[in-house]
Amino acid sequence: MEHAKLIELITREVIAQLSEHSFPSGMTKAKLVPVAVSMRHVHLAQPEIDILFGIGHRLTKLRELYQPGEFAAEEVVTLVGPKLRSIPNVRVLGPVRKRTQVEVSRTDAIILGIDAPVRPSGQLAGVETITLVGPKGSITLPESCIVANRHIHISPLEAQQWGLTDNDLVTVKVLSDKTTIFGDVQVRVGDTFKLIMHIDTDDANAADVRCGTMVEIADKEGQGCL
Ligand SMILES: [Zn+2]
Repeated sequence: MEHAKLIELITREVIAQLSEHSFPSGMTKAKLVPVAVSMRHVHLAQPEIDILFGIGHRLTKLRELYQPGEFAAEEVVTLVGPKLRSIPNVRVLGPVRKRTQVEVSRTDAIILGIDAPVRPSGQLAGVETITLVGPKGSITLPESCIVANRHIHISPLEAQQWGLTDNDLVTVKVLSDKTTIFGDVQVRVGDTFKLIMHIDTDDANAADVRCGTMVEIADKEGQGCL
């Protein structure tokens, strides 16, 4: 069975079992979301691919990601900060985007010597400059490097069932051996989205998030009891 399909099946089963276990019938079901950890990565636009890997280069699919159409590419780049401190082997994710975006953790930003702000994907006004180095060339890109915010991908139907709308901010409780409350979690509703929460490696390590860890949506921010 395809890897992504297997993960989805396991996820659905875990959600079903956890929901039944913690909430007997008749009570409100818990709003449980599986967590995936986003390592530092790069989304590239074609002009940057041309510079880094050669004119007209096409990304090569290494493996499919959980969200339909998304994939990890074989291509990697080196990130270089203004003090020439670098991080090698940073994975390129496909498909090709309209605009290049580099996503790092706070720890990565400290290593690189940059002050990347926490931002939702795509909101790049005024964010950090970073240099990308590939096998065929390098480019220094202003307004390209962020620490991606915590967010949950959810389908329109599931969002409606849970009373959530696009860009809501929610608080979640991480159900791990280091129970942790995360705030400022952006809800991202999309027709093709499969339910998952994305956090970076700093958040994951702090909360002891492992493969299969779930979070429970506690409340919409500004309305709640937390
Ligand atoms: Zn995401």
